[in-house]
Amino acid sequence: MRDFLVAGNWKMNGSNAANAALMDGILGGVPATDQVELLVCPPFPYLAQVADMVGGSRVMLGAQNVSVHASGAFTGETAGSMLADVGCSHVIVGHSERRALYGESSDIVAEKFQAAQAVALTPILCLGETLEEREAGQTERVIDAQLDAVLETAGVAAFASAVIAYEPVWAIGTGMTATPEQAQEVHRHIRARLEAQDADIAAGIQILYGGSVKGDNAGGLFANPDIDGGLIGGASLKPADFLAIADAAAALG
Ligand code: PEP
Repeated sequence: MRDFLVAGNWKMNGSNAANAALMDGILGGVPATDQVELLVCPPFPYLAQVADMVGGSRVMLGAQNVSVHASGAFTGETAGSMLADVGCSHVIVGHSERRALYGESSDIVAEKFQAAQAVALTPILCLGETLEEREAGQTERVIDAQLDAVLETAGVAAFASAVIAYEPVWAIGTGMTATPEQAQEVHRHIRARLEAQDADIAAGIQILYGGSVKGDNAGGLFANPDIDGGLIGGASLKPADFLAIADAAAALG
């Protein structure tokens, strides 16, 4: 009933030449099934370049961040309308690197979520606990606080056109993937929290797992009932690695 979404977060990587080679490889191997959606999120300067390349394909374009402001004197910021203008359909909000390195609070993330939706971009809302929080038994409390900040600001109806990514901070870029059981447990918790407010929206929303997903662990993660694909960092930078994850989703689709 829900399609899989495999989304690549290129972070601060790429160049004109490297992006062209990466996209050539990805476009050459897009799984035939339309039950697997593909998305790439390049750095801002390359959005237009990649938009040209994905045009006419089944690969969608997303950005990694968005301003809370619509326009004006905000040096260095990028408005959601600009992202939409160059062809983005999605934007990542609340990635743990933005929260930890750039001081983005859950309130700011909620504003970015709304700024995206104001221009019909689909926000990919990232939630996740640190290792210390997990070991202290605080995982659900942390996820709830991050999710509730958006629920209280935007309302549950806003989640009809949003994606959630559960990304345990300790699994991002570390090679320490959550087990399928650990991931499914948190995904079920997130969906149940939405279900308590609106069962249809909870049933429809894609909840991605992110954190050291590779071709050889994607199938085990995606086979779980509440895991609808992945937000992929490192493995999104090589066509074969990214496509292996897409193929793992296609095998289940
Ligand atoms: C990410 O940064 O969103 C991510 C999941 O990275 P990686 O796949 O490299 O762990």
